[in-house]
This record gives sequence, C-alpha cells and structure tokens, in this order.
Amino acid sequence: MKFADLGLSDELLRAVTESGYDEPTAIQAGAIPSVLMMRDMIGIAQTGTGKTASFVLPMIDILAHGRTRALMPRSLILEPTRELAAQVAENFEKYGKYHKLSMALLIGGVQMGDQVKALEKGVDVLIATPGRLMDLFERGKILLTGCNLLVIDEADRMLDMGFIPDIENICTKLPANRQTLLFSATMPPPIKKLADKFLSNPKTIEVARPASRNENIEQFVVKTSERGKRDTLRSLIEAESIGTAIIFCNRKTTVRELAKSLQRYGYKAGEIHGDMDQSSRIAELDRFKNGTINILVASDVAARGLDVKGVSHVFNFDAPWHPDDYVHRIGRTGRAGAKGRAFTLITPSDDEAIDNIQKLTGYQIPVHDMGGAERETTRPVGDREEREPRKSARGGRSRSAKPASEERSGSEKRTRKPEGRKPAPAAPRSRDDDDGPDDGWNGPMPDFLSVGFGS
Ligand code: AMP
Repeated sequence: MKFADLGLSDELLRAVTESGYDEPTAIQAGAIPSVLMMRDMIGIAQTGTGKTASFVLPMIDILAHGRTRALMPRSLILEPTRELAAQVAENFEKYGKYHKLSMALLIGGVQMGDQVKALEKGVDVLIATPGRLMDLFERGKILLTGCNLLVIDEADRMLDMGFIPDIENICTKLPANRQTLLFSATMPPPIKKLADKFLSNPKTIEVARPASRNENIEQFVVKTSERGKRDTLRSLIEAESIGTAIIFCNRKTTVRELAKSLQRYGYKAGEIHGDMDQSSRIAELDRFKNGTINILVASDVAARGLDVKGVSHVFNFDAPWHPDDYVHRIGRTGRAGAKGRAFTLITPSDDEAIDNIQKLTGYQIPVHDMGGAERETTRPVGDREEREPRKSARGGRSRSAKPASEERSGSEKRTRKPEGRKPAPAAPRSRDDDDGPDDGWNGPMPDFLSVGFGS
C-alpha cells in the first residue's frame, strides 16, 4: 500500500514525502480512506502506530475543501494532556505546510486572554484539552456549533483522568450530524458506552493491542536495592553508551532529585513533571529534542505519548505501579522502526508490579546481569546519597549510617500518592487538564499556540 493509494491530495502527498515517510502504517492505511469518506471511526491503536497522522492527514484535506478562516471553529481535536495537544499541533504544521488553514491550541497553563484572541480571529482546527475548553465555553468565549468534525484522542487516558463527563458535555455542544473519530489504546466499557452514544455506524480499525510487544525494544529488569538505585542507574548509563534516554520515576520529588543528582555527576540531564509550568515543560522538551540535554528524567503524566525521535533508552528508575504505564513508558523508545533498549530497576518490593507487567505483556522480562556489583562511582559533594546508608566494604552498613526510613524525605514516603494514573476514575479532576497547575504561567503565548500554517 502506498500513500498515493489513499485518496489524499497532491499537496499532502508532497508534505508526507518531505516528512520522510514511504508507506502508510496500518492505522493510516485503514483509517484515511474512511475518514475521507466522512465516516465515523473507532481506531484502537496506541501511540507509536502513526495514529496522529491517520486523522491529521485526512482532516487537512477535508478542511481544505471547505471555507477557510470561518469565524467559528470547524473542527475540534480533544487531547488528554498539554503535551499531546502540542504534538498534534506540530503534526498539523508539518503536514499542512501546503495548505492555508489556521489552528488554535487551547491548553491549561497558558493565558486565557491570548487564546480568546486567537479564537476571535477564527480557526479551522481547534486542538484542546477538555478542562480548558469547558472553561472557555462556560465563559461564553467559544461556540462549537460550527464544528463538523470531532476527534477524541486517547479516550482511555481521558477516562483515567476523569474527563469523560466533560467529553460527553462537549459532544452535546457540537452539531449532531458531525463526523466523529475516536482513538483509544483499549476499549473499556465506559469508552464503548461513549462510542455507542456519540458515534454513528462507526468503522472500527484495530491495529495493535496495547499489551503487544514491540520487537524493536529489548527489555530487561535490573536487580538492585532501594539505596543502590542511583549507583545502578549510573553504571547502566555508562555501560550502555546511550544516545538519548528518558528515565521514568513514580513521583515528582524523585524526578527532581534524580535529575539534580545526575547533573552533579556531570550528565546533561533535565526534568519534566507535572509541577512545572507549561513554559518550562516546553522549554525542557525543546532542550531534549535539540540535544542540549540527552537525558530527560520524567514522570508518567508529563511524558505520556511524547514523541521524540531517536530515544535509544528508557530507564524505569522506579517500576511503574500500573502495568500499562510500563507499556507506555518503554514505548518512548523503539519508535518508527528504530531499535531501543528498556531497563527497569527492581527491588524486592517490586515483585508484584513486575508480575503484573509480565502478565499484561505475556513476556518474561529477562534479568540483566550487571557483572556482579553495582559500581560505586565517586560521589560529587552534596549528592544526597552521600548522606544515605551505604554498604561498607564488607557488605554491612557503615556505622554512621541511619536506617533508610529515617533518611527518606517526607515527600518520598510510600504513603505519598503517585503522580501517575489513578486506579479508578471517580469524579472529574480539576478543570485544568493533566497533572500540572494552572497558576504558574502568565507569560506570552508560544508561537505555535495560534498559527496559520501553510504557504
Ligand atoms: P504516533 O503514533 O502518531 O505518535 O506516531 C508515531 C511516530 O511515527 C511519529 O514519530 C511519526 O512521525 C511516525 N510516523 C507517522 N507515520 C509514519 C509512517 N507512515 N512511516 C513512518 N513513520 C511514521
């Protein structure tokens, strides 16, 4: 199958070729012709399958045939997190460079005034997180009656984050005879119900189960101890000659502390987590993408779905509590046909988490042999581990060391809630979309938040 067989315009085919893609992926081959025929669609596909282009490409052609610069938004894409929304916007810029369409990105953490101004100019494509969209709607700043095309992306993630009532609400504000596309890695009953209620005679395309194993990713577990984790991680980084790596932690505090520790050891490490305001998150991602840093220490929510080319390694500094977070984490490497390696540090308390991951993926993750010992590296002055109990040369505790429980900072205690997925969604979360506060950033709007794209 070739892109040229899918019914896309010549301008789009040119943009696709210039993006370096030779052949459509399975979801693209399945979805694009149906979307162009204006059918409703359910795409069961996870990130990494090329699903973004499967709706962005046909949308550009559909919108190009209608009136551009309408006063009301003509299409709406709902994304669970700011990063995913920004990524979709980048896709529109990339593929839409030969079209004259405009878009606006409505996400939390960005001044509302600038977004309202963008809306007033009129946009063809609105890319939004549900919380911010509802806020603007309730303030009377937005009318959705001109939106004839709706995309609900990452629906299962929306469910996890408690956004389904908002999505149902948003669906009722759009014309009833619109075209609706829903993408989800899994189809739990509430998502099925949502699809039954708001899609009409949809075509279902399923490309890969979320638990399926990406053969391009070599996976390992590495046995260590709670207090030996940083040593083990640094030894792995050294032994693996990494290009770029994402290191996942379960808590924001650990993300911050680990990034600082790695910096003290001379690594070009940065951090991304939900406590950072939007501008810092974008800046940090840019530093990672442009090579200023080659290690990004991340939390689940902030890094979910991140699409950064050529990530050679993923390290799980903490084993994730939710097995499907494991699948999402390691999926940041081995993308678009490249090879990747994923290492999960495990301590005896992680047995259950690893069992659950192995049950979900149906894959027994091999143990990586560190060659007998976690290598002790010279600690730079001020590194927190300096004060933590360490094994003496004979394997016992050094006399001055305190028990680990006394050393752990309050915010790191087991009782602290993880930043990641909530096991069961109850009430919707706060109106701001993912894990980040909406109070931090009142700076100017980044260029890509409201741009005309195309020649
Ligand atoms: P997504 O699933 O949308 O997050 O896309 C995953 C990655 O695949 C992104 O880096 C895309 O740029 C890339 N991609 C999208 N379509 C293709 C294609 N047809 N061939 C190769 N890579 C692609």
